[in-house]
Amino acid sequence: MASRKAIFIYSTELEKHSYPPEHPFNTVRAKKTRQIINSMGLLSGSGITEVAPVPAERIVLKKFHSARYLHALRNASKGRWDVEALNMGIGTSDCPIFNGLYEYAVLATGATLIGAKQILSGSADIAFNPSGGFHHAGPERAAGFCYINDVALACMVLAEQGKRVLYLDVDVHHGDGVAYAFYDRSDVMTISLHESPASLFPGTGFADEIGEGEGKGYCVNIPLPIGTYDKMYMKVFNDVAVPLMTAYNADVIVFELGADALVGDPLAHLCVTNNSYAEIINFLLSLNKPILATGGGGYNVDNTARAWALAWSVLCGDGDEYDMNLGVGGVMLESTDWQGGLRDREFVVRSQQREMVLPGIETTIETLKKNVFPIHGL
Ligand SMILES: [Zn+2]
Repeated sequence: MASRKAIFIYSTELEKHSYPPEHPFNTVRAKKTRQIINSMGLLSGSGITEVAPVPAERIVLKKFHSARYLHALRNASKGRWDVEALNMGIGTSDCPIFNGLYEYAVLATGATLIGAKQILSGSADIAFNPSGGFHHAGPERAAGFCYINDVALACMVLAEQGKRVLYLDVDVHHGDGVAYAFYDRSDVMTISLHESPASLFPGTGFADEIGEGEGKGYCVNIPLPIGTYDKMYMKVFNDVAVPLMTAYNADVIVFELGADALVGDPLAHLCVTNNSYAEIINFLLSLNKPILATGGGGYNVDNTARAWALAWSVLCGDGDEYDMNLGVGGVMLESTDWQGGLRDREFVVRSQQREMVLPGIETTIETLKKNVFPIHGL
């Protein structure tokens, strides 16, 4: 892909509604990401454009969600809420009802879908919607801060057009909604790296959940022990995910870039830095296929915005180059802690942590090599 066309998908319309102030999901992360990349000059020029989303059409939403669920969600958004809605997860503490919730969810989903559309038409090779990545939503279920599963829908839309889709999910939580949507299909391979379901929501995504029927071997779960740090994260990525992605040879990549695996996230227990994300993106770019990236979790707002800005700079070219030449400083990032650019400092690992993490990593690698590799001739 000689010169890539990249679109950043955002509009201030996305800021009209937000989760209740006490809720950890902060929609300002997309705005902050945009501010950083805009100040770096990465919103225009050399193939880069900013695109405003349009709300997803109901007919598209119904490819994954039931009419009953969409109806309940829209009603709840207008203040009409009942026990039937609650039974679908709408109005819980994780998925609260707030004014304009339906409009927000539909617009955020539309943002991901416009990325899929532009990739299909060839107008974009790289698309990033930092307001997307709602991987926990089920066909008739709101869960884990997610109401409408934009990423499952994007995979569906792309697969419908005959594309072989690779869905890669680095959010610290298992990408359950997407994994189960394609559990019996081989035209969408889902790979999720996440903290072990034994210690974290949603409690699924063990290494032996590998899909069924046609889809056996096309659902890849990579659970990680508490305390997993860059070197171990990249070891499992390189040992398991890389050979599988290479063998699968997708036409298009959907990349859920939750930033809650980063060290310091208040809701999870991994110690990854954004340097690993940059390395993963560089690998994805080396596959030379279109990439539709979305946001996701990430509950340390500043770290998340910085990680997504770094991701965008790497997607657009050379992250290091932009970082160093422009000398992005702590003041611009509204933080005094990070003055050396977008990249996280190296996380120092002590021997005790090393000893704690390694066995879990080795078990995960072994299980997947035994159960999934042979299906792909590896
Ligand atoms: Zn998450």
